[in-house]
Amino acid sequence: MNAETLALHQQLVETIHFLHRQGWAPATSSNYSVRLDGASEFWVSASGIDKGSFGMDDLLLVDADGQNLLDHRRPSAETGIHSLLYRLYPDAHCVLHTHSVYNTLLSRAHFPSKVLALEGFEVLKGLDGILTHAARVDLPVFANTQDMTEFCSWVEAHHVHQPHMRGFLIAGHGFYTWGKSIAETKRHMEVFEFLFEVVYKLNCYRV
Ligand SMILES: [Zn+2]
Repeated sequence: MNAETLALHQQLVETIHFLHRQGWAPATSSNYSVRLDGASEFWVSASGIDKGSFGMDDLLLVDADGQNLLDHRRPSAETGIHSLLYRLYPDAHCVLHTHSVYNTLLSRAHFPSKVLALEGFEVLKGLDGILTHAARVDLPVFANTQDMTEFCSWVEAHHVHQPHMRGFLIAGHGFYTWGKSIAETKRHMEVFEFLFEVVYKLNCYRV
């Protein structure tokens, strides 16, 4: 493994530990990946690993279809979603997924309308290309399923109507976002998780 790949692995593992410390990856849940510049294959988290003790050896190299290229260990059950996102967003080099309390609550609450709109928050400026709090970001909410082929077909169909998705919620499950680097994707995740908590608590004040 060359120095560039090693550095990316180190950075991703540090990010995974950070997300775990926030309480956004309980009970071995959630998954993560990083892709090298110009590569079709990518590195993804192995299935069933406690994210608090996740190590560099728990990252598996998979091809564009999510098949393990190096050994027989099982990549995350949701690797197909990472494959799809790298295909839909050629600029993306990292995909992060969390199972936080607030994203799970909002994913259920907003499933009937199929969208969570985030608008008028200063922290939105932490998202790539957003320069004003007046921006609006619509996050689609998809149904949950264990059938990855079916799930990916929903995301792909939605992408036709909303090609500039910045992330999506899965009802009763969690949240995905991505970016051009690990650092950018981590920043996006912090923006969204911060806003999930704010929006949830704001709604509590309103009732
Ligand atoms: Zn998940």
